[in-house]
Amino acid sequence: MAITPDTKDWTWVLERPCPECGFDTQGFPVEAVPGMIMATAAAWQPVLEGDTRIRPEPSKWSPLEYACHVRDVFRLYDQRLELMLSQDDPLFPNWDQDETAVTDRYGEQDPAEVAAELRQAAFAIAGRFEGVTGDQWQRTGARSDGARFTVETFARYFVHDPVHHLYDVTGQRAVS
Ligand SMILES: [Zn+2]
Repeated sequence: MAITPDTKDWTWVLERPCPECGFDTQGFPVEAVPGMIMATAAAWQPVLEGDTRIRPEPSKWSPLEYACHVRDVFRLYDQRLELMLSQDDPLFPNWDQDETAVTDRYGEQDPAEVAAELRQAAFAIAGRFEGVTGDQWQRTGARSDGARFTVETFARYFVHDPVHHLYDVTGQRAVS
């Protein structure tokens, strides 16, 4: 059985804590985001050791596939953040995460390389958030499905994603 594309809109995580992973996007100062990104990237490293290629069930990604996704989310959100900081109210190009998983053959990538790439991608976006100051947090951008973000809501929305997927893989809920 193939992975069912996840087309759910997750922007509700900006309104209330996530009942699955326990993460509260409103529970921290936005300036904490770079440190949170690096901490989450560090927590992903052990996931990429051992048996990473086995799907717990046919319709659920393997740890390796999830890690590839998280790495690509770090890269994609860094591009989107760059757009928001350099253009006025940009529209983000669309990204089909499930198509990417198939065309980039997530399940066949090298776990050690993915671990290094994930860390590097985290470092890049954490650094870009680190440079955000003052009014820049209120700059805006929009997704192709119409969801609108400020740099601040974008940061809070984004930082939930790698935490949630860590829960998908380890079953460990976020500590709040
Ligand atoms: Zn969650």
